Parts: sequence; C-alpha cells; structure tokens
Amino acid sequence: MTYQNKPGYNTLSVWGGEEKKDGWQRSTQVPVVHSVSYGYDDLDYWYNVALGKEEGHIYSRNTNPTVAVFEEKMRQLEGAEAATSFSTGMAAISNTLYSLLKPGDRVVSIKDTYGGTNEIFTRFLPRIHIDVTLCATTDHEAIEAEVAKGCRVLYIETPTNPTLKVVDIARLAEAGHAAGAVVIVDNTFSTPINTNPLALGADLVVHSATKYIGGHADALGGILCGSEKLVQGAFAYREINGATLHPMAAYLMIRGLKTLALRVQRQGENAMKIARFLKTHPFVKDVFYPGLEMHENHDIAKKQMRDFGGMLSFFLDGGFDAVRTFLPRLKYAHIAANLGPVETVAGPPRTTSHVEVTEAQRAAMGIPESLIRYSVGIEDADDLIADLTQALDYAANHQA
Ligand SMILES: *Cc1c(COP(=O)(O)O)cnc(C)c1O
Repeated sequence: MTYQNKPGYNTLSVWGGEEKKDGWQRSTQVPVVHSVSYGYDDLDYWYNVALGKEEGHIYSRNTNPTVAVFEEKMRQLEGAEAATSFSTGMAAISNTLYSLLKPGDRVVSIKDTYGGTNEIFTRFLPRIHIDVTLCATTDHEAIEAEVAKGCRVLYIETPTNPTLKVVDIARLAEAGHAAGAVVIVDNTFSTPINTNPLALGADLVVHSATKYIGGHADALGGILCGSEKLVQGAFAYREINGATLHPMAAYLMIRGLKTLALRVQRQGENAMKIARFLKTHPFVKDVFYPGLEMHENHDIAKKQMRDFGGMLSFFLDGGFDAVRTFLPRLKYAHIAANLGPVETVAGPPRTTSHVEVTEAQRAAMGIPESLIRYSVGIEDADDLIADLTQALDYAANHQA
C-alpha cells in the first residue's frame, strides 16, 4: 500500500473503515452488533470463514463487525498493515508482551512507563523468568547500550506520565532493530494525530483507547497496530484469553474517533497557552510541557510530534497541602485519575499513577509531592486560565 495520496487525518478519522456503504442495510452509521454468533446454513462456507478464506464472523470473542470497523479506522490512522483491539489499554499491552515473550527472553524499557505497564515489568514478567531492564527514561545512550546486549523486546512510551518526558522513537527503533528486537511504542499521550511511531521505525504501536481515542471518558478499550504477522500473534493470544473489546465500547470509540483530529488540535492549542501562563505564575514552581522551548526534550518533541498534545504537569510552591487546597478550587476540572477526554481532568500523581510508591521513591523519579497532572480539555483556554488563576491565588494565600 502506498501512502502517497493518503487522505488527511480529519478525513481518516471520519471515513476510515466506513467507506463501504453496503452491508448495514443502508444505515449511514455503524450499528452496534451485539450478536454473540453468526449463523451459516452452508457448512462449507462456514468452514472457509473459519479458515480465513472467506470474509465473515463466527463468534464475537474472536471478531465482531462493529469492533472490526474500529480496528480498521485505527489501522488507517496509524498507517499500519494490521490492527486488533482489546478490552482495555492494559489488555493490549499485556497481550502484546505475552504473545512475544517466553522464559529466558529479555526486555529493555524505561523507568517512566504507565503504572500498570511498570507492574508487568517488575512483578509479572520476572515470575516467568523474563529478564527486564528499566533504563533512565531519557538516557538514550544507556538504553542503546542495554539494547545492544541483546533483547527480544524494546518497549517505550512517549511522552511519559506524569512528567512528559519525550524519547526519540526513530533513534531507539534503529538501536532495537540492530539488536533484532521488536520495538513497541505506547502512543496513548501523543495520539496518531501527533505521532505515527510506525512511520518512525517502530514495529508495533499500542494505545489505551480509553483516553484520547474514545475521548469522552465513557468507554474502556485498547488497540494494537503493526505488521500483519506481529498483530496476528497478539490477536491469536487475545482470542483465547478473551480480553475482547465490547461492541458497545467499539461503537463509542468509532464515534469518538470522528472528532479525534479536532479535539487533539484544540487540546494542543489550549495546552500551549496554559503551559505559557503557568510558567508566569509565582505559585507555580515548574511546568512540564514538551511544547515549551525550555522542556528538556523539546528538540526531540519538535522532530517527532506534529503538535505537542494536551497533557501537561506542573508543581506548586508548597507541599502536598498546597495541592489539597488548590485542586478542589478548580471549577473546570474533574479531579480524577483518567486523562484525554473533552473535559479538563486534574489529579496528583501522589494519589493516582504513583500511589503505590513511597515519597522517597517519587522524589527519586523526579515527581515532587506537589505535582499536578493536568489533562487539558476542549474548553475555552481563557476560561481554563481564569480558573487556574483563581485556584492558584487562593492556594498561595491559604498556605498551612
Ligand atoms: C491509561 C493508560 C494505559 C492503560 O490503559 P487502560 O485503558 O486504563 O487499561 C496505558 N498506557 C498509558 C500511557 C495510559 O495512559
């Protein structure tokens, strides 16, 4: 397939996987097919469907027409050969890893992966004798050196949670391939609108579709895109362990995806304005946003991201008490653990992503107690800035 005349992201978000007008009884929208199974009077035809020689579905744990449209839309948005979906982002990540790894294999990754992913690396893979080495997230030389020692999987995530570090996908993909590794990128924060890891050399890209893909914080899901061979391997594993995406969730993902490009564009514009504003507020000690020139990985971000996304974090000039005073004052933010929806969401890593580690460990990871993760929504930037201003001023004036 050539992407020379590939449609733009706005077009793909809307039409991807929905080009075909027949087969849905002329319905212009993708129906939610709740059917568990699909009936065949012609047993030979059924057999050929089972063998993959004819198109069709047999049992919805394996494939489902609504789910298939979601997968096709994501496949096109990531410019991949194949895509398969999962019940959650963690199901996508764990199924992908378990489909690739066997006892004796080695994984190289970074310290700042998503909490659940980190748990797989530190708790579950070692149990089945898979050796995992986690490197300092932006120390590219160290990662390259570990990869060069040999590994089956190089797993990266960018930008990272919660301090928005950016790792160089093209550079590490090259290192991974030189060592014969499969290179996996968690693209949840950047979305296919801002980064296409496969075009930068990665072999597989995973998303928690729960976040920006769905975009409305009302459905859980995960997706994996990449080569036919590798995606098929993860699909074969998922078919059996049953971490299938529900057709209703797939429908919500399809619906959410139609505005993905619009949402991500607005969230990026808002985030840049808010990051610049936060930088000027005396009660804010520092701001982490890859779009800021002073961000430690701004150069890499500029190279591999079309825009810098809607996630930022900042920390207050005070301890956790300052956060306690500040967060409930926000009018336009859910104080919650998710990210990526149309509404702004704020939360402290101390009680969300990094609740299980000690204060000392958080400090070692560069996570101050007063850090706040702020997922910028599609509201008017002026309203969000006014909201942040009043809450920051209040917290600054009500210090314990
Ligand atoms: C939320 C998240 C996940 C896990 O996704 P779920 O859908 O919650 O299972 C994985 N990676 C990143 C970067 C995330 O933000």
